[in-house]
Amino acid sequence: MSSRRFLVLLPATPAVVPYVTQRAAEKSWTPPLIHRRGRPGLAYADESYYDRDSFGVLWVRAPIIPEARRGEPRFDSIHPYRQRRAMLDMLCQVCGKPPAAGLEGPHLFLMGGERPIREGEVTASPPVCEPCALESIQACPRLRKQHVAAIVKYTPAWGVAGIRHHPVTLLPITDGDLEFFAYSAPVTPWIVAARSVVQLWGVTAVDLAA
Ligand SMILES: [Zn+2]
Repeated sequence: MSSRRFLVLLPATPAVVPYVTQRAAEKSWTPPLIHRRGRPGLAYADESYYDRDSFGVLWVRAPIIPEARRGEPRFDSIHPYRQRRAMLDMLCQVCGKPPAAGLEGPHLFLMGGERPIREGEVTASPPVCEPCALESIQACPRLRKQHVAAIVKYTPAWGVAGIRHHPVTLLPITDGDLEFFAYSAPVTPWIVAARSVVQLWGVTAVDLAA
């Protein structure tokens, strides 16, 4: 796990609910699972086109409802579809705006902790725009004290974070903690995904405090 960075999402500031934050009325759920027809893997009995990503991986479901009816923010929860969209379109995880440099990047990544962002590391934490990065650092004492940032040139899709299920019983194997799985991993058909994971290449560390 040393080259993997999990859900080190940026903290909310008093005035800002991050784009990827899940709200009270948006709780995710996993419908009853069945064996996929015609090939090994999981499926939903009432599966629709929207239940899989473009790599064919099954995803948890979460309501998509108008902002006014989403309810109070749950700052420790991430909306799976907004997180996925942020990764797909490299949207800022805080304000949700598209990247100023365009989809091709480069993109800014900001993470808590002191370990520098490494070449080739994988993350489920979407990028952040510069104003939101600076605001997050100013607003959060923990982040102000300890953070790392990098400009990243390439962010190819790597895999998902999700829950692995038993191929016979179809029950979850892990006890609720998300794990990382590469799209190429043989167990991926047995995963219910909840986050999109990208790999970071062309990493140049930046000092935002300066
Ligand atoms: Zn932003």
